[in-house]
Amino acid sequence: MPAGNDVGGTRHNSTNKKNAFCSFCRRNYREVGPLVEGPGDVYNNVYICGECIDLCKEILEKENRRRGSGNKLFNKIPSPREIMANLDQYVIGQDGAKKVLSVAVHNHYKRLVVGHEGSDIEIEKSNILLAGPTGSGKTLMARTLARILNVPFAIGDATTLTEAGYVGEDVENLLLKLLHAADFDVEAAQRGILYIDEIDKIGKTSNNVSITRDVSGEGVQQALLKMLEGTVANVPPQGGRKHPEQQYIQIDTSNILFICGGTFVGIEDIVRRRMGRKSIGFGQASGFKSDADSAELMRNVTSDDILEFGLIPELVGRLPMVASLEPLDLDGLKKVITEPKNALVKQYQTLFEMENAELEFTEEAIEAIAQRALAKGTGARGLRSIIESVMLDIMFDLPEQEPGSNYSITREIVEGREKLFKMPETKSA
Ligand code: ADP
Repeated sequence: MPAGNDVGGTRHNSTNKKNAFCSFCRRNYREVGPLVEGPGDVYNNVYICGECIDLCKEILEKENRRRGSGNKLFNKIPSPREIMANLDQYVIGQDGAKKVLSVAVHNHYKRLVVGHEGSDIEIEKSNILLAGPTGSGKTLMARTLARILNVPFAIGDATTLTEAGYVGEDVENLLLKLLHAADFDVEAAQRGILYIDEIDKIGKTSNNVSITRDVSGEGVQQALLKMLEGTVANVPPQGGRKHPEQQYIQIDTSNILFICGGTFVGIEDIVRRRMGRKSIGFGQASGFKSDADSAELMRNVTSDDILEFGLIPELVGRLPMVASLEPLDLDGLKKVITEPKNALVKQYQTLFEMENAELEFTEEAIEAIAQRALAKGTGARGLRSIIESVMLDIMFDLPEQEPGSNYSITREIVEGREKLFKMPETKSA
């Protein structure tokens, strides 16, 4: 018999006895190879095979990971200031919303600790509502928070939800996304963050023209409300529609932090009316208001305005924290291009470094890109596609350039009036 190892004072050996079989999977040594023999007596020996050892290792690692992140969460909750400093690294501007989120998230995790220690004072959950135009950073903020806190994060869309029996998604599918993000670790998913987009489209049943989908109808609203408040939901592991014989995974949503986002187009007018401001000119409906005015109005959005906008009161009641995001102006867009930790400029610089080249964008080039994004009206969301189209030909030709060069992207290149590489034109169609 080969030499053994000492584990916990007992000597363990590998065995190749013909009649030995793995005590876990019951297969014998000819099927699974050498077995490790545990302590036992002549009549009652235990063995384990390599495959079962691997499986056990995997299970233990997963459990340790789960416990590890749990401990990290409960031993040290980042302070609101720390959370905000972290958000600052990724999200430009939006200080008001950052503050609201930092405090809310800090409290949320404190609440989990209290629940943990069995205190009899129950801190109620505060889900969060983010109101702000497209491309102002709503999703980015929720995503960044999840990263800071090291919890599972998923994004869902309220407009895809339909009432049971119709074509579309059940509310539970949102939880399934979170479960996926948590690698099917139910406990981790129950502490996660779920971002639900387009919440402002819910409740307007009069706009629902579909005959096959009861989009966001009464049934959906009820299910969503229950989920936000805290319920034990039956989630079908394969997704799709539920059917009676299916096995469900039960998820308790009471500790999941829900962040709902919406553009709330036109809410500025409600705020303006409430604050007694007069609007001048006839550009109101088409969005020709001054940016500063619109930003100022967005800063003042309250739950009452959200109610007046048309969100059902029950839903507003379950989203007690309202934070608004302002549209990014030219300056903000310029910063988005250059400043965040994974800014677009930094990403391209890294790509150039991989080809042994250096890249910079001139001030004017960045301004030109930001101006173009501003004209598009999709906030920072338009920036990537603009930069990608500027860089496409350049990235195509880059590997053929001499290594060790420095390149500068100018306004002329962004506007298509000049080319970065003076290459002989290839003859193509
Ligand atoms: P929405 O508000 O519509 O959810 P997103 O958060 O999805 O917008 O933003 C789209 C993209 O634009 C993000 O991935 C990010 O790169 C960029 N972006 C938007 N707002 C900001 C911001 N305030 N700071 C930095 N980047 C931003």
